[in-house]
This record gives sequence, structure tokens and C-alpha cells, in this order.
Amino acid sequence: MEAEVEGEGIGEPDMFEYFVGSVAPGWKSTYSPCGGDRATLGVYVRRHGRDVSSFFDRWVDKFKRMKGLSNLRIGEMKTGGDPIATIPNQMVADGIMLTGGASGQSGIGYSIHGGKMCGKVAAESIQEANTSSRFLSRYSRMWAKEYRTEYYLGRMALETLRKMDDSEINSMMEVFKQEDLSFLQGSSLQKALQVSLFMLKKKPSSLLGFSAFLRNR
Ligand SMILES: Cc1cc2nc3c(=O)[nH]c(=O)nc-3n(C[C@H](O)[C@H](O)[C@H](O)COP(=O)(O)OP(=O)(O)OC[C@H]3O[C@@H](n4cnc5c(N)ncnc54)[C@H](O)[C@@H]3O)c2cc1C
Repeated sequence: MEAEVEGEGIGEPDMFEYFVGSVAPGWKSTYSPCGGDRATLGVYVRRHGRDVSSFFDRWVDKFKRMKGLSNLRIGEMKTGGDPIATIPNQMVADGIMLTGGASGQSGIGYSIHGGKMCGKVAAESIQEANTSSRFLSRYSRMWAKEYRTEYYLGRMALETLRKMDDSEINSMMEVFKQEDLSFLQGSSLQKALQVSLFMLKKKPSSLLGFSAFLRNR
């Protein structure tokens, strides 16, 4: 659930702000400055039904307190689904390929890259006059090689975050405060291992946060 809001100077900052934890269980709440007095506020909540207006209202209250605003005009509310870290299933069949949001390839950059792979195989299939699912599955194999591990890791991370409480999230985030993480290089699996090693070195107990993944919530 998202809305455009108006308040004095709230559109001016250069940076977006994202918050995770009980303010928006399962994903994030957002503040996106749009210039001048305009911004959007949003909550992205999982496993709490389709009406997430109570979370939105709490986020607006918190935002007003954080920014010291007494007046905030709330515009039209928009609701919908954000395919964050969904795991794409079937992407091809005879004569058809799905890409981007339609196939659950969450995120703008991921959708653009998925679309490029899809377009490449579409061109090859036309060149070879073969649009069978067997031929088109070149595309799903190409996608899986590039992204499947990353999507599973992303899904696990999101589920872990959903199951952690705010104090656990805060204490885990402390580990990364003021740190330059540009040393993270390589595949998503390599980066995940490097992050774990970094946490182990800096504050071994912070790794316990990962055990939230096993909670039945
Ligand atoms: C609220 C929200 C917040 C998000 N935030 C982020 C973010 O911060 N960062 C990020 O990377 N990703 C974010 N995403 C995900 C991102 O928007 C999508 O991954 C991306 O837009 C997918 O691009 P796409 O071109 O595949 O599909 P879309 O952008 O959904 O485009 C599909 C287009 O096809 C049109 N269409 C549908 N059916 C037909 C039809 N029958 N005929 C003609 N046209 C049709 C639609 O109107 C639409 O314009 C967010 C998504 C949502 C919903």
C-alpha cells in the first residue's frame, strides 16, 4: 500500500529511506522524496492479508514523529503486489516465453536482464523457425544458471527477516554500521559467504540471528 503525501520540504532529500521490521513485517516501509513538498510513503507487508492499512497508518504516524511534521496531506492510496524474491516457476511453453514481472523475476534490473535473455532466445528461435518449448527452454536454463541460487538466497534472507523481531534486526545491523562493504565480490553465493565470514569475525553472536529462519512463524 502506497500513497503520495505532501508536507513541507519532504521532497527535498536526495536519498530514499527504507525501514525493515515490525513497521512492515516481511519486507519494508519506504519514504521516497519526489521533489519540493512531495513524497511517497509505502508499506510492503507479507502474510497479513490484503488490507494492510493499519500498517500504513502506523508508518505515517512514525514518519511524522521522525521528521517532526504536524501536517501531512495524504493523497490517493494505491494497493498491489510487489513480486519481491518470488521464485519463478514455469517461464516457457510451446510458442510462449514469460519474462519480467509476469514471470516473477522480481525487481527492475532483474527484469531488464531477464528480458534481454528472453529476447536473445526469441531471435534465435525465429532464425531457426523453432518455437517449441524444448527450444525455448534455452532461455529458462540461461536464467537459472545466472539467477536461481541468488533467488533462493534472497528468499531465505527475506524469510529470516520476516521471522526476526526488531531488537534482533537492530543488533544484526549494528555489525554493518560505518562499514565499507565494497569488498563483497563474486557470485551471490560467494557474497553470502563473505558476509557470513565478516559477521563471524566482527561479532560472532550476530550470526545467531540467522537461526530465526528455522522458526515456525
Ligand atoms: C509497489 C511496487 C514497488 C516496487 N519497488 C521496486 C523497487 O524499489 N525496486 C525494484 O527494482 N523493483 C521494484 N518493484 C518491482 C518492479 O516494479 C518490477 O519488477 C518491474 O516493473 C517489472 O517490469 P516489467 O516490465 O516486467 O513489468 P511491468 O513494469 O509490470 O510492465 C508491464 C506492462 O504491461 C502492461 N500490460 C499488462 N497487460 C497488458 C496487455 N494485455 N496488453 C498491453 N499491455 C499490458 C502493464 O500495464 C504494464 O505497463 C516494485 C513493484 C511494485 C508493485
